[in-house]
Amino acid sequence: MNKFDYRQATTTDEASVLVHDNDQAKFVAGGTNLLDLWKYNVTNPELLVDINQIRENKTIEEIEGGGIRIGALVTNADTAYHPLIEQRYPLLSRAILAGASGQIRNMATNGGNLVQRTRCYYFYDSEVPCNKRNPGSGCPAINGYNRMHAVLGHSENCIAVFPSDMCVALAALESVINVSDLNGKRSIPFGDFHRLPESAPEVDNTLRHGEIITSIDLPSKGFSSNCSYLKIRDRNSYAFALVSVATGLELDGDFIREARIALGGVAHKPWRVKVAEDALRGKPVTETSFAQAADIILEGAQGFKYNQFKIELAKRAIIRNCMMALNPESQKPGAQP
Ligand SMILES: Cc1cc2nc3c(=O)[nH]c(=O)nc-3n(C[C@H](O)[C@H](O)[C@H](O)COP(=O)(O)OP(=O)(O)OC[C@H]3O[C@@H](n4cnc5c(N)ncnc54)[C@H](O)[C@@H]3O)c2cc1C
Ligand code: SF4
Repeated sequence: MNKFDYRQATTTDEASVLVHDNDQAKFVAGGTNLLDLWKYNVTNPELLVDINQIRENKTIEEIEGGGIRIGALVTNADTAYHPLIEQRYPLLSRAILAGASGQIRNMATNGGNLVQRTRCYYFYDSEVPCNKRNPGSGCPAINGYNRMHAVLGHSENCIAVFPSDMCVALAALESVINVSDLNGKRSIPFGDFHRLPESAPEVDNTLRHGEIITSIDLPSKGFSSNCSYLKIRDRNSYAFALVSVATGLELDGDFIREARIALGGVAHKPWRVKVAEDALRGKPVTETSFAQAADIILEGAQGFKYNQFKIELAKRAIIRNCMMALNPESQKPGAQP
C-alpha cells in the first residue's frame, strides 16, 4: 500500500501552489491516464491535487480575433460535440472522436490529453529498464519489440511516440496552450509544448512543475470546409494510432492556397514539417502534389526492426487523407474514402 495525501483545489492558483511545493505532487483531472500509471507503479505521487472542483477552465467560448478558447477542464467528449467545435473545427472534433472510447472521453479532460504519457509497453512494465521511467537505465525498445514506436525524431535514449489523437489536430490548427503558475501566466505555441526525447526522454513537455494548463486557444482559421483526420490502427476502436494524419486545406479553385499536415504515432510529439506545407502552396490539387509533400515530411525517417512499415504507411496515409479532405462527404460516418 502506498501512502499518499489528497487535496481538492478550488482555484487554479491554489492547485498550482500545492503541486509546486511538493516535488512528488501531481494534478489529477479525469484520472484516465494517471491512475493507470499509478497502478502499474510507473508513478507514485505523495500528494494528489484534484483539480476538478476548480470553476474556471470549464468553458468553451469565443475570443478576440475570432478564435475559440477551450477550457483545460472541459472533457474530450464535451469538446468534440460542442456546436462551435463541430461547425468551425471539425478536424479537432474528428480527431478527438477517433481516440479512446466513449466512456473514457467522458472522463478525460483536454489538459490531461496534452500531458498523457507514452504507451510504450516497456514504459508501463516497471520490472524492465526504461530511460523515460528511470533515466539512465536504458531503452529495451530499440532492440526489442518496437512495432508501435517512432520513425522520426527519436534518439539513442528513447524511441517512444506520443499517443494523443486530439493533439495531432491541435498541432495542425496551430493552437496555443495557456498555462499558469506562481510566476504568472504564459502562452505556449503548440509546436513548442511537446519535446523530442534527445538526452532527456523523461521530460515529455515544456511545462514546469506546478504549472497548470488553463486553456487552449484555437485561431480563427479552422479549415472547416476541407479537413480530414485519418487514424490507422490495429482495431477500429480502443486502439492507439500506428499512424494518424490531420489535414487542413484552403483551396483556390484547383490550386492549394494553404495546407496543414500533422502526423501522429510516428514521433515523440505531433510531427509537422513547415517546408512541406510551404511547398504545397500554389500547387495543383492532385495526388502528385500530396505525394511530393509526403516525401518531404518523411525525409530522414528511420525505422527499427518491427516498424519499418510505418514510413511507407505514413506516406500513403498523408496522400489518402489529403484526398479525403477535398471531399467532405468522405468524412461522414460509414463513408469509404
Ligand atoms: C484504454 C485507453 C485508451 C485510450 N485511447 C486513446 C486514444 O486512442 N487516443 C488518445 O488520444 N488518447 C487515448 N487515451 C488517453 C486519454 O485520452 C487520456 O488518458 C486522457 O486524455 C487524459 O486526461 P485525464 O483528464 O484523464 O488526465 P489525468 O489522467 O487526470 O492526468 C494525466 C496527466 O495530466 C496531468 N494534468 C491533467 N490536467 C492537467 C492540467 N490542467 N494542467 C497540467 N497538468 C494536467 C496530470 O497531472 C497527469 O500527469 C486512452 C486512454 C485509455 C485509458
Ligand atoms: S522507447 Fe522510451 S519509453 Fe519506451 S522503453 Fe525506450 S526509453 Fe522507455
